[in-house]
Amino acid sequence: MEQKAKINNDSRFTNNESLFVGEFPRKLFQSEKDFLNWILPEQISVYNSYRKKLDEYFVLAEGRRGRGNLVIGKNENDIADITSPLADVFAYGVIETSIGNIACTIREEIAEQFDIEIMNLNRDEVLADFEEARRWTYSNWNVGEVCPQCLKSVRMISMKTKANENIVLAICANDKRLWICEEATQRKRTIPVTNFYNELMFHKKIRDAKIALDSKRLFTELNLFTDEDLSFAFQTYNKIHKKVDVSEIEVKPKEKISLLKKIFTLK
Ligand SMILES: [Zn+2]
Repeated sequence: MEQKAKINNDSRFTNNESLFVGEFPRKLFQSEKDFLNWILPEQISVYNSYRKKLDEYFVLAEGRRGRGNLVIGKNENDIADITSPLADVFAYGVIETSIGNIACTIREEIAEQFDIEIMNLNRDEVLADFEEARRWTYSNWNVGEVCPQCLKSVRMISMKTKANENIVLAICANDKRLWICEEATQRKRTIPVTNFYNELMFHKKIRDAKIALDSKRLFTELNLFTDEDLSFAFQTYNKIHKKVDVSEIEVKPKEKISLLKKIFTLK
């Protein structure tokens, strides 16, 4: 599934010229949209709705994280909000290239504005000229699949909301990442490890600081925690951080998961 980034063909940039220059306000360059649209799968409506915004909204300013972080807003003359706490990540993916890993991030829209980031994780600039090896995103991950980043199997915990909707907590011990998938909408949300682990320790009544503060143990000791432990930790985490279904935050473990899913879960 190798795709050459279209940016290589964009005549706006000569080789090795830095991207994301320009006066504000302006529309997003096509090359910038190419970096972002692929983490917004067209066939998933919750993601697809942001493609239109990338076309219609304006770049208002550089964001607080500097080069590669832009604030996008609906109205050309709006003042970019760069003082409120950064919104949650809405979509995330990485393009692995000859100039480093380029992380593409779109954050949640708040008051008709949202942040986008296109950042080289290995250096401070994204250059126009690079060879692409592969790309991966949580956006198009499906329940039952391997981890999009490392292609290893993930632990999956199925849960139901009060409204009887399926959600799945996925944990990749290899990459030390966890995310939630809402099956009805196919929306994925990454979950910060530390906050989740705090809830898990609270639930397990573990107060020994050596264990309780070492969130890496979630991954190195993952098999010590039952599905019930992990779903309970998510439930309490979600009560505070309201990741899923703001009006229906009660989450309970689902009935036994199928044998097929279990095989995926175990290895
Ligand atoms: Zn992984």
